[in-house]
Formats: sequence, C-alpha cells, structure tokens
Amino acid sequence: MIPYGRQCISEEDIQAVNKVLRSDYLTQGGTVTAFEQKVADYCGAKHGVAVNSATSALHLACLALGLKEGGRLWTSSISFVASANCGIYCGAAVDFVDIDRDTFNLCIVSLEKKLKEAELTGDLPDVLVVVHLAGQSCKMKEIKLLCDPYGIKIIEDASHAIGGKYESFPVGSCRYSDITVFSFHPVKIITTAEGGVAVTNSPELAEQMELLRSHGVTRDPVKMEGDSDGEWYYQQIALGFNYRMTELQAALGCSQMESLDYFVSKREEYALKYNDCLAGLPLALPVVDKDCQSAWHLYIVRLQGDTTEVTRKDLFDYLRQNGVGVNVHYIPIHTQPYYQSLRVYDDLFEAERYYSEALSLPLYPGLGDKSQDYIIDQLKGYLG
Ligand SMILES: *Cc1c(COP(=O)(O)O)cnc(C)c1O
Repeated sequence: MIPYGRQCISEEDIQAVNKVLRSDYLTQGGTVTAFEQKVADYCGAKHGVAVNSATSALHLACLALGLKEGGRLWTSSISFVASANCGIYCGAAVDFVDIDRDTFNLCIVSLEKKLKEAELTGDLPDVLVVVHLAGQSCKMKEIKLLCDPYGIKIIEDASHAIGGKYESFPVGSCRYSDITVFSFHPVKIITTAEGGVAVTNSPELAEQMELLRSHGVTRDPVKMEGDSDGEWYYQQIALGFNYRMTELQAALGCSQMESLDYFVSKREEYALKYNDCLAGLPLALPVVDKDCQSAWHLYIVRLQGDTTEVTRKDLFDYLRQNGVGVNVHYIPIHTQPYYQSLRVYDDLFEAERYYSEALSLPLYPGLGDKSQDYIIDQLKGYLG
C-alpha cells in the first residue's frame, strides 16, 4: 500500500540520534535548546519552546494566554481533534467557525458574522485557534483585524505548515498571532517521532510555557518566593506538567531541519504534477491563495457530486483496494460523539459538505514518480 504520508529519514538523521545516545544527556541537555533556536530562527520568531507533541504545545499555549474555566475557545471544525481539545483541557467551552469552500481554512465571512452575534449575546471567545489546513496559511491579516477590537488571542495551529509562507514571511513569524504551534509527528513536514514546538515573539509567553512544560518548577532565584536555600534549591510556583522533548528527538529535529526546504520543494513538485494530471476529472483540486505558499502537507481533492455518480466512499474503497492509501482529513470535530455530548453547534454547513467530498491523496518527499503515475492512472481509470 502506498501510504498517504511518510517520514523521510537520512543517514545523517540516524548519526545525529546515535551521537546523543552515546552522550551524557538523553534529556534536558543543550540539544533541545539548539532545536528550539533553529525552529525560531527559521520562522523569524524570537522564542521557541519544544515539547513532546503539538497537542502539548497547544495546551501550554492556551494556558499561557490565560484560558481557564469559564473561558471560550473557537477553532475550525475541519482539523484534528487536538485543535479543540486544548480548550477543554483548560476548562473552557469550545465552539467552531465554518470553513471556506475553496481553501478549507477558517472562513473570514463566517468568523465576522459569528463574532457580531457573540458580541450581542456576550459569548465572545478568549482564544481563537486557526488551523493552516494541508499546509496553507489562513488569512491571518484579516483574522487579526477581526479579533483585535475584542482582545481575542490568536494561536496558529501550524501542525501542517512549517516551511510554508504567508505574505512572503515564513509561517511561524507570529506577525498576526500570539503563538504558533508545529507538530513533528512522522506524517508531518519534518519529524522528531513525536514532538512539537511553540514559537512566539513574547518573552513572557515563552517563559510561561517553559515553566509549565516542566512541572511549574523553577531554579531561577528571581522567580522564587523568598530566598533560595542554596544551589540545590527549586520551587514549584505553578501547576505544570512533564511535556518535555528528549535530546534524541531534538537531535533528529535539528538534523531534519536541514532538509526542510528540500522536503517542501519535493512536496510542491508532486502537488503541481497532480494539478496537471488530474484536471478534467470530476475533482475539485486544491486552491492556493495568492498570499500563500503552501507547505503541501496534504493534497486534498473534493469529489464533485453534481458531475459524477461515484461517491467519496466508492472512490476511497476502490483506491484502497488497489494499493493507494488514501485518507480523509478530517471528520468534522463537532460531529464527534464527545463534542456532540457537550452542546449543539450551528452554521457548519460547509464543513459538513466538505466532509462528504474530501479525499487526501498520497503526498510525501519519497513518493517517487512511478508511484505517483500509478495513483494518477488509477484515478483516471476509475473516474475518467
Ligand atoms: C497532527 C496534528 C495535531 C497534533 O499533533 P501531535 O504532535 O500529534 O500532538 C494538531 N493539530 C493538527 C491540525 C494536526 O494535524
């Protein structure tokens, strides 16, 4: 089966991890700091905080921004559940904004309408998590303009989008957000096996996330209550977690960063070939906004139900039976039983329609021309 995504590990990556294994520090050494710096520098952000997953990064980002019991978080329903769960972890209520029909990202018109309604009912969110689906940035400038008058904090869930650009700046520059979060799960653009980084331009937010990543414990006398008892002394000054990234993961991450631009260019090459070869089939192909350069985490097509009898399930089953590991990203979060048990959700028509039509085709740097040609032939044979 050709998978929909796969990591790309080089001999240098393996050497980098081996080197850490032979060293004194498997955790809490300098490699994590080096990786944080590398990611922050790449994005043009001031600070990076590495953790054991993007899910942990989203949780810490929400906590650092002050989200708590009684608060509200909004996000897009077409995302992985982690984009919403971070709000629930903080005791906040979660609601969803509908998506744009062409980019599948959060819809600006829906956001504006929902904010106006929430202003009247006193239900404005404290935090908005925007998701750069498939690697394409949301319209950050418009989003910030809409959120600023209400003081709403913005987190970019850029789990798909490291290596992408918005208005010629790297995703993660945080020019229009408070914090940006990346995932390094093996199917994402680069990998640390498990892992994530939160980047920000705010020293206070970075400091808070660092504290909470490691139990809420500090060794810095300046932050302690009263005097330090001595060199051995530490104080717990908040309730934190163990969300730390290991040195092994950070070494892999540092090494993978060297290939990031190459990975994105290979992904783009395959994406453009899909664009060329699939035109004319009853599929809506990905649309990239003029302000964006996608990192091409996913190549999502939408089956055009009005022009073919074939259903998405037919197409999915056919391709899977023929060795093409297609997938569906994502099932709308608001339709999950857990979220259904919490409340009723309105106005998510486009998200639900998207779900009935969407299919992710295999896309990763090691896909290879032969595999891609085979996938294209299968699609043409079935739909053409
Ligand atoms: C993968 C992913 C996450 C979670 O990342 P982990 O590193 O696996 O915790 C969150 N949001 C989105 C959009 C993702 O694709």
